[in-house]
Amino acid sequence: TPRPVGFSRSRYGGRNAVTMIPGAGIGPELMGFVRKVFFETGMPVDFETVQIDSKSDNNDDLEYAITSIRRNGVCIKGNIETESQSQAIISRNVAIRNELDLFVNAMHVQSYNKVPSRHKNVNVVVVRQNTEGEYAMLEHESVNGVVESLKVITRDNSARLARYAFELAKKNGRSKVTAIHKANIMKLSDGLFLETCINMSKNYPDIAFDHMIIDNCCMQLVSNPHQFDVMVMPNLYGSIVSNVICGLVGGAGIISGKNYGDHYAVFEPGTRNTGSSIAGTNTANPVAMLNASADMLEHLGHQEHCNNLRTAISKTLDEDILHTADLNGTAKSSDVVQNIIKHIKTITGNI
Ligand code: ADP
Ligand code: MG
Repeated sequence: TPRPVGFSRSRYGGRNAVTMIPGAGIGPELMGFVRKVFFETGMPVDFETVQIDSKSDNNDDLEYAITSIRRNGVCIKGNIETESQSQAIISRNVAIRNELDLFVNAMHVQSYNKVPSRHKNVNVVVVRQNTEGEYAMLEHESVNGVVESLKVITRDNSARLARYAFELAKKNGRSKVTAIHKANIMKLSDGLFLETCINMSKNYPDIAFDHMIIDNCCMQLVSNPHQFDVMVMPNLYGSIVSNVICGLVGGAGIISGKNYGDHYAVFEPGTRNTGSSIAGTNTANPVAMLNASADMLEHLGHQEHCNNLRTAISKTLDEDILHTADLNGTAKSSDVVQNIIKHIKTITGNI
């Protein structure tokens, strides 16, 4: 059974303890901003910071991080790099998702009015399978020059993902779920995914259901994203589609993504970038990570704190038009953060 919202293993006196994994590139500075906002505005969360060394040739750091997430139940993370070339060391990002069975990645993509973008008024939720498909990590070179890679689709994981998508639609008053696939070519694997979604849709007669082939979906997204409401898809298509949609509304620095399983939740920027080339320059857009921290507050049941943070972000982007370089603005990361803090203090009367 899924945990109720607000459940956290470690909750003391109304405060939650949460695991924080800064990751590489801009991750550490973005986490510094999250800490600053939370500290200066009195958000009821304490962070347990866990570092994962990208150069490590063993999994000790990773195992420690996973233990911390199991203890706290909730984590916020930047993108971790895995530099080891050893076959035994798989991507730490993938390992965390698989170990904790975080089978859902959900990304709510909503436009900000004053952020320069290809389309206005986009409001789509992408629900992506997060632990199998093309990311099963089962690759081998069978003979020299021939590599085989297994894509794994299971009925159970497809069904619980589809159920999540329909339940999300129901809870949020959304009217349509669209399954994205390539079942015309991958008849067995994507065929099973599609068939499972079709079967699940029969339990939700009040929600419209349709399906679309991934290549057409990409074209439709770029030309008319407003036709979509909730989208559900296998892992690799989800990675591509979520990046396309983030690009439509203003790029990598804005939108957050949530990873859920039945027991744990991990929050991060939606497009999962490292941003190494802009690290340490005070130019990264802090909004995607702050939106991830707002998602985390919501999950922990701190709805009012979440709303205050989201309102402060909207006011900063849409009213004050304080934009970082990725949005063609001139604001520094720290200017945006300071402005968000100012708005939260005004809202809460704690000036
Ligand atoms: P990856 O981690 O997949 O290698 P990158 O780190 O190169 O991807 O990120 C893709 C692009 O998005 C880069 O141009 C990077 O600078 C930009 N980017 C990612 N996150 C942010 C952010 N928070 N603010 C501004 N630009 C960002
Ligand atoms: Mg990178």
